[in-house]
Amino acid sequence: MNNTICIRLLLCLFTGSLVSAQEPTKPPIAIAIHGGAGTILKKNMTPEKEQSIREVLSSAIHAGYELLQQGGSSQEAVVAAIHVMEDSPLFNAGKGAVLNALGEVELDASFMEGKNRNAGAVAGVRHVRNPIDAAVAVMESSPHVMLVGAGADSFAQAQGLTAVEQEYFITPARQKSLKRLQSKLNKAQAALTAEEDLFIRQQRYGTVGCVALDRAGNLAAGTSTGGMTNKQWNRVGDAPIIGAGTYADNASCAISATGWGEYFIRNVVAYDIAAQMMYGGRSLADAAQHSIHQRVAPLGGDGGIIGLDASGQITMEMNTPGMYRASIDINGTLEVKIYADE
Ligand code: ASP
Repeated sequence: MNNTICIRLLLCLFTGSLVSAQEPTKPPIAIAIHGGAGTILKKNMTPEKEQSIREVLSSAIHAGYELLQQGGSSQEAVVAAIHVMEDSPLFNAGKGAVLNALGEVELDASFMEGKNRNAGAVAGVRHVRNPIDAAVAVMESSPHVMLVGAGADSFAQAQGLTAVEQEYFITPARQKSLKRLQSKLNKAQAALTAEEDLFIRQQRYGTVGCVALDRAGNLAAGTSTGGMTNKQWNRVGDAPIIGAGTYADNASCAISATGWGEYFIRNVVAYDIAAQMMYGGRSLADAAQHSIHQRVAPLGGDGGIIGLDASGQITMEMNTPGMYRASIDINGTLEVKIYADE
């Protein structure tokens, strides 16, 4: 190598290092949301409904992502994204939540931060407008992890969270679904047509959830739901159960689940995924596949999860024909999807 080339090389290395000293690469941020998994089939969807759902998913993911870009915490991002879906009548959380067997709304939500495994949850609330806020308030302003029923509603009000009457949540579409479902369930299973059977399965899902990674390297997860149509009053699903529907630990991953809650509780799905990563060295994608397809599915359960690991890798796994979902990865790439095979 002659001297000129040598000097040029040194100059390149020097200026290169100067550039990187002036513009340090920012730590990665990433976010993913779901709006429920289930028997979501293109043939049953109108283009208008599909468009509206994609628009809300897109607003929700951007609400969270913009906060992350501005240096906001993963907690702020998760809450912001979930608010958008709780406030939309299209999803089964907050306004437009499904109805229980008595025609009433009972809401469940949970939140967990990965930095210190702090968590909060509420179940069976009937008046707090945004149940994810109540879950965060339980975590931040009470010595407890979970509050249920009237006590949880009264705690939320004492914390200054907006309270609403049941009418705020109940939509004519959900009332119609409950009526149709109850009349079909009154028929013997054998007498149901394939279409009716499909209708029953379609009524089950629609929970919302979010996982996020902020610039400080902290993961967070949150889930919010009205549960399952025609559920027994006071039934509690997986969404507010830390470890079943929601989990976050910077040492492994952040998870939010959706699906037939009883199976997600029995398989402790969100924690099962984290545990496989921590103790079994599995990747997030492998662990999620295992939990959904080898643990939940063989028992007859169905649903899906969104997951994010500490390096910002996103996984979305389901054994249902669809899951409303969106993500913005560490490269800033946005994806909004509905069907499993998209
Ligand atoms: N997992 C929720 C529940 O069982 C339902 C859903 O995801 O839509 O309450």
